[in-house]
Amino acid sequence: MKKLILLLLLVNLSVFAQQRTIVKKTIIVLTYDDALMSQLNVAIPQLDSAHLNGTFFLTGNVTQQTLSRWREAFKHGNELANHTLYHPCLIKDGKGNPANNSANYTVYTMLREIAMMNNLLGAIDNEKTHTYAYPCTEPMVGGVNYVDSLRKSGIVKYARMGGDKNTFVTDYSKLDPLLVPSYPSINKDNGDDLIAYVKKVQKEGGLGIFMFHGVGGDYLTTSAKAHRELLSYLNKHRDEIWVATFKQAMDYITSGKQ
Ligand SMILES: [Zn+2]
Repeated sequence: MKKLILLLLLVNLSVFAQQRTIVKKTIIVLTYDDALMSQLNVAIPQLDSAHLNGTFFLTGNVTQQTLSRWREAFKHGNELANHTLYHPCLIKDGKGNPANNSANYTVYTMLREIAMMNNLLGAIDNEKTHTYAYPCTEPMVGGVNYVDSLRKSGIVKYARMGGDKNTFVTDYSKLDPLLVPSYPSINKDNGDDLIAYVKKVQKEGGLGIFMFHGVGGDYLTTSAKAHRELLSYLNKHRDEIWVATFKQAMDYITSGKQ
C-alpha cells in the first residue's frame, strides 16, 4: 500500500513538473527584419491603429531621415533590435558585395559588428540591452558556428532563428534563448494563412513568432491587407493572446514565472 501511495505521489509530481514547463497561454511575437521603408510606412501605422507592438530587427541601414521615425516607433512601444550593421550572409551565387560575404568573416569580426550595432541602437532608443536576429538565419560565419561564442560574449541574451509555418515553442524548458525559432512569412501568405498559424499556436499553447520583411512593399512582401487582417484577429482575441515584443516574451519565458 505504501509503495502504491509513493508511486501515485511520484506520478503526480511528474505531471506537476510537466505542467510547470508547458505553458497554455498563447504568446505571439511580430518581428520585422532589415529596416525597410514599407515597415515605417505600412506596418507601423497598422500596428499603431490596432494598438499592438512589434520587434524591428534593424541593420545599420538607418539614415538621418529614418532615424527619428524609428525612435518614434520605439516611443510607441515597439522594440528596436539588432540584425548586424551590414547583414553578412553566405554568398553562394557570386552575386552581392564580397565585403558582406559571411564566408569572409571570423567569429571575432561578427561579434564586433553585433556589439557595434548594439551601440547604434542604444544611441537611438537609450536601452541597455538589445535582442538579435541572425542575418539570413545563418548561425555560421567563415565556416564556424558562432552561437556559443555569442552566448559567452554576453552581447545579446536572446536571438531569433528561422523555421517554417509549423514552428512554434510549446515547451519552454527545452528552448535555447539564443536559438528561438520563428515562422518566416515569405510565401505571399494571405490573411487566413497568417491567422491559421496563430490558431495553431492557440490550440497547443506556447510562443509563436512571425518573421516579416516587406509589408505592402519592398521584398519578401506580405500584403498590407494580409497584415491588417492578422492584426485585426490579434486585436479581437486580446483576452487569449498576448502580443509581446521579442524581448518581453523572452524575459517572461526565462523568468520562470509561467
Ligand atoms: Zn535580414
